[in-house]
Amino acid sequence: MHEFSIAIGIIEIVNQHAEKAEAHIVNEIEIEVGELSGVVLDAMEFAMESAKKGTLAENAGIVFHYIKGRGQCRDCGKAFDLQNVFDPCPFCGAFNPEVKQGKELRVKAINVD
Ligand SMILES: [Zn+2]
Repeated sequence: MHEFSIAIGIIEIVNQHAEKAEAHIVNEIEIEVGELSGVVLDAMEFAMESAKKGTLAENAGIVFHYIKGRGQCRDCGKAFDLQNVFDPCPFCGAFNPEVKQGKELRVKAINVD
C-alpha cells in the first residue's frame, strides 16, 4: 500500500514545519486529495493515523479535502467529470483529455501551537 509511504512523507513535512515554527503540538493538518491522485482515501486516513504516532502531530486532527476529477477534451474543448485519466471524452470519444483538476495530493494547511 503506497498510502503508507505518502503518509509518512506528509508527517515528515508537517513535523519539519512545526519544528521550524518552534511549535509544541500540531493541532490540525489539512490535506487535499484529488480523485485522480491514485490514492485511496480510506487507506490514506488509516495510514495517517498510523504515521503520526510518536510525532508532534500525534493528536492532530486530519481534515481531508476531496477534489473531484475534471478534464477538458483536447479535440472538442468540452470540460467534463473525469473519474479516470484513461477515460475518453463523453462528447466526441477522443482519448487523452487534459486533466484540469483532481491530481492534487498536498498539505494545504497546518495548525500548530
Ligand atoms: Zn471531446
